[in-house]
Parts: sequence; structure tokens; C-alpha cells
Amino acid sequence: MNLTEKQLEQIRAQIKRVKACGNPFYTERFKDVNPDDIKDQESFERLVPFCTKQDLRDAYPLGLAAVPEEEIVRIHSSSGTTGVPVIVPYTQKDVDDWATMFARCYELAGITKKDRIQITPGYGLWTAGIGFQAGCEKLGAMAVPMGPGNTEKQLQFMQDLKSTVICATSSYALLLAEQVEARGIKNNIHLKKGVIGSERWGEKMRERIQSILGIELYDIYGLTECYGPGIGVNCDKSDKGMHIFDDFIYVEILDPETGKPVPEGQIGEITLTTLVKEGAPLFRFRTHDLAAFVTEKCPCGRSYPRITQILGRSDDMVKVKGNIIFPSTLEDVIKSVPGTSSEYRAKIEHEDGKDKMTVYVEVEMGVDRVEVELGIKYVFKQKYNMTPEVVVVGIGELPRSEKKTKRIEDLRFE
Ligand code: ZN
Repeated sequence: MNLTEKQLEQIRAQIKRVKACGNPFYTERFKDVNPDDIKDQESFERLVPFCTKQDLRDAYPLGLAAVPEEEIVRIHSSSGTTGVPVIVPYTQKDVDDWATMFARCYELAGITKKDRIQITPGYGLWTAGIGFQAGCEKLGAMAVPMGPGNTEKQLQFMQDLKSTVICATSSYALLLAEQVEARGIKNNIHLKKGVIGSERWGEKMRERIQSILGIELYDIYGLTECYGPGIGVNCDKSDKGMHIFDDFIYVEILDPETGKPVPEGQIGEITLTTLVKEGAPLFRFRTHDLAAFVTEKCPCGRSYPRITQILGRSDDMVKVKGNIIFPSTLEDVIKSVPGTSSEYRAKIEHEDGKDKMTVYVEVEMGVDRVEVELGIKYVFKQKYNMTPEVVVVGIGELPRSEKKTKRIEDLRFE
């Protein structure tokens, strides 16, 4: 996507401001950059250095603040599974802009102020719960701020308060759906839509949640470093891609290895630049999320650019016997074999000097397990010229989680 004149002007203004703010993080970053030299796409790509998660970590605790202390109204922190967390300071404008984008997400999903929105992501340091909540209030809908866990209470409130929208991670939505099914309470549920955030999920899982609950599902995109969830969503006219709000954020899709833009429509790493963020603006932040631009115009007529669902993480890519394997690679294979469910795991080990991959899949009751095993092996061999070990188990036997789940486990370098 090409930068517009307005976006270029916003980026120049943002760089001028952070250069002058006195914070060494930005002074160092832009010491060789004259913002007035950023005249077009090419000069932007040449002049504005990338920013990585490590850069943000190195600024711990408040090194990212680009405004005086008295203008900061809140901080959030990324969940950082390892090491030092990233702390992101927000001004009042940042908090307001985020809520504006989030309310827009609900609107694009066809949610109105008449809806009752049950919010299951966590509140507190991370951005999920409070983002869903602020957007809901801005829209004027009724928030049911459950937070995570306590499935009993979730199901009770879902029925008693007649929630019409559920906000959850895909694994938690699946867990709730399976509980609704197991308890036979589908007829007491008033859900119409689900807004699903924060992790990559496959078509099978989507179908399973949809078919149990009979609801429409929307993907919401975002990350703590860049406001939080709510910077993009797929609209109710197309589930092919998520609109990203380019009046707040400029998106690039880059080759993770070269850092150059990929040809339009190809998969690469989502890289984000904020346009009006005050507390901790981002410049060419490498998200490690993989997606592609959706180039065709959306039937809804909105001009916000679209990206595909998140297809994987650049650090989840594993190379097995010369093949690049993503979670989506595995999902494609599994969903092409009848009788499989959406849950799977894979383990990669090094044994007797060779890489060995084991794929674990769940199947419905009564499905011929040997047939599924052979089916998966066959498709793998056809598509990737390799044959994994396949372990077939019953529905519900693989671990479910209320948190992000890592489905491919690479044990070769441990
Ligand atoms: Zn649309």
C-alpha cells in the first residue's frame, strides 16, 4: 500500500516531535534522519529504521514515553512470555483514539448499541479486556465485563443477561461452545456474533464454533505495542480480510528476511507505523505476524486497506526436511481429511540424525482412525514430499487453553 501525502505529512510531524521530545530512545533512533527528506514511499523505506520488540524491551520501564510524565494517563504491558516486558505509555488522546477504532470495529461487524457484549479477555496490564470494554462503551452497547475463566459463571451470565455478542480468544470461544453443546443449553443462548482476537485460528475451528453456537464470527487484530486489539477487523460483508484503519496506522507487508515489501498479495510480515500516537509512537514496528494484503475491493465499499487473517508468526515458521511449515500448513492438510476436528498439535524432534515430525489430531466418534492417519500421511507426502508420524485421538483429548496456545513444538534445539 502506498503512503498518501497525508500519511507522509503525519509521519514527518511525528518524527519531528519525537526528535524534539528529549527522550534518548528517539534521539538515538532518528539521529541521522531529517524528517523533511521523507518525501515519498522510497525515502520513507530508506530513512525510517525498523523497530523490533527487543528495542521496545530495552526501553523498559518507561523509556518509550514521548511526552512529559503529566500527559501519561495509563500504561499497558505486553504479556511477554520470556524476559523483560514491554511497557507502553498512553496519553488521553491515545486512549480515546483506541476506543474510536474499537467502536468502529464493532460497527463494521454489524454490532449496535442494542447489543450486549460479553467480554472474556483479561483486564489489567494487558490491553485486551479494557480495549473491548472502551470500544463497547463508546459504541453505546452494554458491556458484560466478565474477564477470563470461570466458565460456570460465563455460561450463567450468557443465559441470564441474554448476551448477544461474545468476545474471546478462539480457544476460549471453542471451550465455551463445547460446554454449551455438552450441557444442552443452546436454546437458552442469545448470541448472534463473536468477536475473536489475539491468536491465529483455522477454518475448522471457526466452523466448529459457528456450527455449535450458530453465530457469525469476526476477526479482530491488534497488539499491545500498537494501542491493543481493535486496529482492524473483518466487516460483515466479507470474511476474506480485515480492514486496517489507515487514518491511524500505516501497514506494510515485508519479507521477514530482506525487510523489503513483498509483491502485492503475497505473504509477509506485518509492519506498523502509527500516524497520530502520542505516548509511544511506533515507526516501522516488525510484528512477526504474517499476513498478505487483500487487493480486491471489499463489497462493503469502505476504503480501509485489508489484510488476510493472521497466517502465522514469522518465529513459528519451522523448517522440516527443507519444507517451511506454518500452523496454517498443518491446518490445510488436516482439514482436507474428513472426520478430523479443529484441534491439533505437532512436535518436531531430532532423532538418529534426522528430523521427525509427529502430528496429533482429534477425530469425531466413530471415525476410522487408521483411515485418518493414512489420509494425513498421504496428503503430506503429496504436498510436501515428507511423511510425518500421525497420532489420532478422540475429541477433547488434546489440551484446551484459555490462553494463547502454541501448536507446533520444536524440540530440536533444546
Ligand atoms: Zn468491508
